[in-house]
Order: sequence, then C-alpha cells, then structure tokens
Amino acid sequence: MVNKFETTRLTILLPAGRLLLPVMAKANEVAQQYNLEVYLSTAQNLRLMGIKEEDVADIKAALAAVGAEFKAPGKFPVPRVCIGKRDCTMGVGDPERISRLILDKFGSRPMTKPKFKIAVAGCILSCAGVMTTDIGIVATRKGLDIYVGGKGGPHPNVARRIVRDTDEQTMLKVIGELVEFHDAHTPKKQRMFKLLEHPEFPYKDAV
Ligand code: SF4
Repeated sequence: MVNKFETTRLTILLPAGRLLLPVMAKANEVAQQYNLEVYLSTAQNLRLMGIKEEDVADIKAALAAVGAEFKAPGKFPVPRVCIGKRDCTMGVGDPERISRLILDKFGSRPMTKPKFKIAVAGCILSCAGVMTTDIGIVATRKGLDIYVGGKGGPHPNVARRIVRDTDEQTMLKVIGELVEFHDAHTPKKQRMFKLLEHPEFPYKDAV
C-alpha cells in the first residue's frame, strides 16, 4: 500500500521476536542502499519503511535470499512473546519454545482469516500483553493457562481464561479449535472477543 508520500513498506516476520543475524545484516544493507527507515513494530516484527514501489521486488528478493519471511494476507499470526525463564528471573516457561510449537503446527495454514493475534508469556505477569490479545498463553508453575478474547484499541477488553494448567499438546488442540471456530464464524475479519458470546463457542471460563 502506498502512503501519502508515495512510498510503501515491507514487514519482516520475526518468530519469537528473534532477529537472525543474516536478516539483520541484509536489512541494514538494503536500508542503507535504498535510504529506508527501520521500525520495530508493536507486533514484534521488523518493518522497512519508505520503499519506492519499483524497488519492492528487489528488496524482497535480497531479504528472502537470507531466509526472511514477510507479512502477507492470509498468513497465520506470529505470536508475540516475552523473553521467558532463560532471561527473566520471574519466568517459569519458555515462550520461544511455545511460539515455535504453535508455528510448527499452524504456520503453514492457508488463508487464515484476520484479525486475531496470539501472545505468549513466561509467567503470570503477562508482559507480552496476553490479557489484551485474542489468544493468550501463560506459563505457570502448574502448566499452561489459555486466555481468549482480549483486545486493545479504543474499547479494550480483558481476556477470559478458558483452560488452566494444561500441557503443550492440549494447548495446540485448543488453539486449533479456536482458529477453526473463528474461521467458521467470521465472514471476512473479526477479533476473537466477538465470538465469546456465540451460543456454540466451545469453552466456558476456567476458574
Ligand atoms: S511475563 Fe514473566 S517471564 Fe515474561 S518477561 Fe514478564 S516477568 Fe518475565
């Protein structure tokens, strides 16, 4: 999409917020070559801004050659994560691992309908914004809790916990059910919170 300055942008997906060194080096190289801005998005991705339309294909090809993947319609959302137990004294879980499990299972799902997001936190402090994200995973000392229906924006909504103390395989099963329910009940795009009161929504609150 061209903005009012007649330039466009390219968003490089960064699973678990990790910026691999070859991608970082190439992004730096093309940013200098094409005089681009580099923006760290709120969804934890890397965005190059100020691209002329005629340069998009060359820039994409240069980045794809070092393994970069790009945001595009229909792509399954890359979870936003906190740093977790390896690097945070409060952490009891590993959001990077959980993100990888989710993307291994669903990353190639075709034509996923917008606009739900996923967040993963390494403890109940929920730094990754789990409580204001459509599907949220929180690691606890007893396992994984799953939240649904959070959102920000002008009318924020706090997510509801639908599963407590579960394991990774069950987490993947629940995410799969939520995504399929969203798909089946979403004409074009919608946030997950609108589905919470649907009579067939598959989960009640887990207290
Ligand atoms: S959610 Fe917990 S583990 Fe993650 S960064 Fe915040 S305090 Fe650390």
